[in-house]
Amino acid sequence: MRYVSTRGGMAALPFSEILLEGLARDGGLAMPESLPQVSREMLASWRKLSYADLATQVLKLFITDIPEEDLSRLTHAAYNSQVFSSEAIVPLKPLGNGLTLVGLSEGPTLAFKDMAMQFLGQVFEYVLARKNTTINILGATSGDTGSAAEYALRGKKGISVFMLSPYGRMSDFQRAQMYSLQDENIHNLSVHGVFDDCQDIVKVLASDLEFKEKYHLGAVNSINWARISAQVVYYFWAWLRATSHDDQQVSFAVPSGNFGNILSGHIARCMGLPVRRLVLATNENNVLEEFFRTGVYKPRSAEQTFATSSPSMDISKASNFERFVYDLVGRDAGKVKGLWESLERNGSFDLSDLKPLFEEKFGFVGGQSSHADRLHTIKAVYEQEGVLIDPHTADAVKVARQYQEAGIPMLVLETALPAKFNETIQEAIGQPAPVPEHLKGLADLPQKVTVMDCNVEQVRSYIQEHVIL
Ligand SMILES: *Cc1c(COP(=O)(O)O)cnc(C)c1O
Repeated sequence: MRYVSTRGGMAALPFSEILLEGLARDGGLAMPESLPQVSREMLASWRKLSYADLATQVLKLFITDIPEEDLSRLTHAAYNSQVFSSEAIVPLKPLGNGLTLVGLSEGPTLAFKDMAMQFLGQVFEYVLARKNTTINILGATSGDTGSAAEYALRGKKGISVFMLSPYGRMSDFQRAQMYSLQDENIHNLSVHGVFDDCQDIVKVLASDLEFKEKYHLGAVNSINWARISAQVVYYFWAWLRATSHDDQQVSFAVPSGNFGNILSGHIARCMGLPVRRLVLATNENNVLEEFFRTGVYKPRSAEQTFATSSPSMDISKASNFERFVYDLVGRDAGKVKGLWESLERNGSFDLSDLKPLFEEKFGFVGGQSSHADRLHTIKAVYEQEGVLIDPHTADAVKVARQYQEAGIPMLVLETALPAKFNETIQEAIGQPAPVPEHLKGLADLPQKVTVMDCNVEQVRSYIQEHVIL
């Protein structure tokens, strides 16, 4: 299995060679040269596998340059009941009226990012050791991604993490989660500024090629292919748990921001998993919903992006969307390159001529949810089913209901636990979300964080003093 760029300007490379890269050199994203196909017999033989063993079977189709027994060691280290609070790793929970929740939030940071990050941490350490090199991960976070990365990379050999976060702008829970990590290779830098300021500092340092090379800087952002492929696994897992015969279809509803999660569903469907619909749910930031409704892709600026009560979906530009467009235009890299050039020039592109393919060929439909919808859905599900869901999951439940069909299970991906977003839960049901037992003392743990000005040079010298080389 080798990988090519969506814009056509990269020689085909194996998994280990694209693992540590962000964008391809031509500005595109890595995609498998062709997608592996899974037969009904293979699916049937996977029914009895544990999550870790299923992950090995799915991931070995994408990762052909790591021996299967090593890969199996990595998946077992990532997906076990010491790391995840459910024995099943990903439990399915019926929600009534034909809906089922797929529990992707049993990991250390209570959000679905752990699913991919835990594997990424293992495979990073393995590949770095094999290449005899080190990496210093530099990132900015407003909450979920940074903490998932830190929990996955803490204590890993050859890896340090420098994570910038906006001073005073995260929830107490998020702060406690990140800053209570005492591992020597984890560096929390709290910057006097907003998230975009943190992001800008990262961009300046990462585009200083000399600095980047000298200090082995890398990233773990949502375009990383290892993350996308690790997420493919739970679509297979959920289908295997929700069905009893091998050609039974299900639909998935996915709370979406950067288009990473649902892209993995698209990949699984293209591999032959019997998926009828992929239901994309957005919040008020509905750039993707608009695309699937009209065929026009028109990202917004940071100023036009609303701060909502499902904040992990507050995204103006969906970084993984290019990978879907590559498939949509028949894997024509020249066409993708042209579309992104026109995006630069005009701020949008129009694929409305391909609109019939969105649902007929690729199964995609979309919908949108608002703050009021979120509150209403959280309350209704709590009162009717006794299940408390988080605001992001609520967006997907709301949109999923629009697309339910008789005889087709609708699987809603639960992307976070309610404890992470207590303010909205309180508003919806008038009482706080329960905090999982093992996290009750989190707020009282000592915190390790370095506060600094919103200044590139201060961050640069901190990195210079603390990197591993
Ligand atoms: C990251 C995140 C999302 C959005 O997922 P994408 O892969 O960016 O589409 C949704 N919900 C939660 C809780 C998240 O952390």
